[in-house]
Formats: sequence, C-alpha cells, structure tokens
Amino acid sequence: MMGKELLVGEDIVKLFPVRGGILNRVIAHVRAVDHVDIAIRKGETFGLVGESGSGKSTLGRVLIRLIEPTSGRIYYDGRDITGIPKSRMKEYRRLMQIVPQDPYSSLHPKKRILDIIGEPLEIHYKLPRSEIKERVAEMLSKVGLQPDHMYRYPHQFSGGQRQRIMIARALVTEPEFLLLDEPTSALDVSVQARILNLLQELKREYGLTYLLISHNIAVVDYMSDVIGVMYLGKLVEVASRDELIDRPLHPYTRALLSAIPIPDPKTARARRKLRIKGEPPSALNPPRGCRFHTRCPFATERCMREEPKLEDVNGDGRHLVACHYWRDIEEEEKWHPLKT
Ligand code: SF4
Repeated sequence: MMGKELLVGEDIVKLFPVRGGILNRVIAHVRAVDHVDIAIRKGETFGLVGESGSGKSTLGRVLIRLIEPTSGRIYYDGRDITGIPKSRMKEYRRLMQIVPQDPYSSLHPKKRILDIIGEPLEIHYKLPRSEIKERVAEMLSKVGLQPDHMYRYPHQFSGGQRQRIMIARALVTEPEFLLLDEPTSALDVSVQARILNLLQELKREYGLTYLLISHNIAVVDYMSDVIGVMYLGKLVEVASRDELIDRPLHPYTRALLSAIPIPDPKTARARRKLRIKGEPPSALNPPRGCRFHTRCPFATERCMREEPKLEDVNGDGRHLVACHYWRDIEEEEKWHPLKT
C-alpha cells in the first residue's frame, strides 16, 4: 500500500557552473534541473525516465543530498532536510541509500566483500567485527550470493553478482529509501531481469520506497507505480504507471513508448510510432518556450515563445502534463504507440 509522502522536492533547481577564459571565471551555467516539484510516497516505486542529459540522475542525487541544490527545498518524512549540517544528515544517510549504475567501478578493487558491505555498519553502528560478519553473511544470502563470498575480491565476480553486492551494501544499514540509478544498464540483458526481480522482492520484504532512474522506459514500466518523464531539466509528464502507459499525452512520452519493442512481429509491423529526430539541445542554452519544440512534430509558433506549465489532466492531481496542445493531440492522434 502506498503511504504518505516520504521524500519531497519542492521547486528544485540545480545549476552547474561552467568556467572559462584566462581567469577561469564562471561564464555560463548548465541548467541540469530547472524548477522541478516531485513527491515520492512511502512504499511506491517512482520511475524517472528520460534521455541522457535530461537531469534525472542529478535530481535523484539532489533529493538524497549527495549534491546540494542551487535552490528549492527537500523534505524527508515531513522534515525539512535542506541545508542541515553533516552531523544531522548522518541519520538520513543511513535511511537513504543509493545503488549506483556501474557495479564495475563502484566497488573498491582491493577490498574484500566483507569490508565493502561491512563499512557502512562500522560508520553508522560501530558494531563489533563478529556482528559485522554475521550481518554481511545474512545480506549476501538475501541477495542470492553465498555467505563465504565475503572473503573474495570484486574481480572474482560477474557484473550481475557485483550489482548484487552493491544492493547488499545499500541494504545493510536498514534504509527506508533507495535511489536506483540505472541499476541494470551496465549489465547483460540476460542478467537485467534477474536484478530487477531481486529488487522487487527486496522491496516487498523490507517495505522499501524506490526512486528508479532509467533511460529505458521498458524498465521503468516494469518496475514503477508512478512514472515521471524528464526532458532537459524539466518534468514534462507525471502519472501512475497504468494511467501513463494507457494514456500518454506528451509527445515526448509517446516517442519514448514508441521505442519499446513489441515481441509479436505482426503487431510490431502494424503499430504506429512517433519518431523524434536529433539529439536533445544543450542544457547550457535550453530553447525558449517549450524545451521540446526543436524536436516536436506538433510544435507551433506559440511553443517557441511560451513555456507550458504542468496541467492537471483529470482534476485530481494524479496525471500532470506540460504541453499546450495535449487535448488537441489526444483528440486528433487517436493511435497508441504500443497498440495497433
Ligand atoms: Fe510539442 Fe508544443 Fe506540446 Fe511542446 S508545447 S510538446 S512543442 S506541442
């Protein structure tokens, strides 16, 4: 069951300075996240999807305060954690953990698995060595590895096994919230489904809340209760998974869904797709008006000068979309990117 809001970001902005010239002064800013509101409820998986450079990983890291926002506020379980000092952040660090993208570079090559998984226990609980061993053995079993794997080094494991180790490390402090930052994108396709299923099982067992970040809408579709679509630092559509898949309204969401492969060749051939051309513009100098207008097949002159706000589609706050013409597009383009 979804509960009340656990992690909330209000009007989050994150700018990264770009330096240049002889004096190495700040000459511009990358607008990685630009006035985003997001609320993740207890027990849900919130999937954040978008192309690389859309700002989704930056937003995730800002929300768990691995990086500081330029402006905006962050609330954890109703408490404002924006700008609180390191000493007070320690407890929240235990409660909010991250499973990073790359299990190859994320594990210290010269440390044994016992030390890698056990390190957070030393930091947060200062447990004796015997107890750390016990907890590490237990966590290894939970993620489908053997307890005696704790005496091995990272290079002795496959990519999928390393990601299991990263998950064990993230879970060992008994967190409530996990940021899953492209957790399977560095893995073979055959291993990806097993890791996603493991994450689903652990979520049920421990009552976890997830923010899942992925460029792959099929992964987000499979895992999420709520989906947010990001484009160039902005959230352009947010809805429950069922509503978004059934009724995608933003042209960019339609384009992402058009990229999901359909196994049946007959249906795949008959299906219509919305293709968008080119790469996203630079976040250093995003387009005026609707940021998607340079690639949107429905763009008009209004889109070039006026930025669309997130609109409440059904009047209940459960489906939001930022497009001037979503009603017209829905009326005129009755086809669905996943159906014939
Ligand atoms: Fe396309 Fe205009 Fe809608 Fe932006 S506002 S998504 S450019 S139709």
